[in-house]
Amino acid sequence: MATLKDFRNNIKPNWCPGCGDFSIQAAIQRAAANVGLEPEQLAVVSGIGCSGRISGYINAYGLHGVHGRSLPIAQGLKMANRELTVVAAGGDGDGFAIGMGHTVHAIRRNINITYIVMDNQIYGLTKGQTSPRSAEGFKTKSTPSGSIESALSPLEMALAAGATFVAQSFSSNLKQLTTLIEEGMKHEGFSFINVFSPCVTFNKVNTYEWFKENIVDLEETTDYDSSNRVMAMTKIMETHGLLTGLIYQNKQKQSYENLVAGFKQEALAKQNIKMTEAEFEKL
Ligand code: SF4
Ligand code: MG
Repeated sequence: MATLKDFRNNIKPNWCPGCGDFSIQAAIQRAAANVGLEPEQLAVVSGIGCSGRISGYINAYGLHGVHGRSLPIAQGLKMANRELTVVAAGGDGDGFAIGMGHTVHAIRRNINITYIVMDNQIYGLTKGQTSPRSAEGFKTKSTPSGSIESALSPLEMALAAGATFVAQSFSSNLKQLTTLIEEGMKHEGFSFINVFSPCVTFNKVNTYEWFKENIVDLEETTDYDSSNRVMAMTKIMETHGLLTGLIYQNKQKQSYENLVAGFKQEALAKQNIKMTEAEFEKL
């Protein structure tokens, strides 16, 4: 059985020392080992940005795609090979600006993949411009007088789009992040995981210290029911989107690929597997 080291390769990440993305890489590797995958059973698809390099740093199938297009590739991959565990990863610019149309539709489509947003509230690779996640008043080279736009709320967006799994974590909390990615991989549907991943080079506002002071962890909340969508939305709004943990999960809704008429039979026929209607229904 594969262990954590089997998901490591010898490529040295060129992220800045202290970048939050290191923890996300480590958490994906740990989660993959913990759920019992072999490297050839995992595919990591990324977009463009500092975050996009992640697919090259994990010993698994990997594809560094084009800007904002990790999700179409990841969904196609899953539909073509349902045996693969597919993880898509990208930054907040990648997923919430150029790729936003794909993000919303992938969420409501509910194909069984895990999407991790490496959210640093800025464009890092292009040296620090305001992203859809930058707060009002945030000053960068592209907004020298401070951003006048409202920041996107990813968790509210995901819930409104019909997500069946919504979680949020923080790069400093490797234990929680690993557990949430494991849960995401096990979830039978689209798993949306937003991760606060500080850009230590260009974002001097949303730092590790800032998150430690402002995050509200669901573990400290009593009487929370993660199957209650209204409660989830209320809690997200009450905490101004700074809630971490498993925020919402709908285990009732079936994944897209399980609802596509004839998909299973066709896939089995291609492998020359014959089974009765009753056996097929049990799948
Ligand atoms: Fe990470 Fe920011 Fe450096 Fe990019 S520029 S590697 S996001 S710290
Ligand atoms: Mg970013």
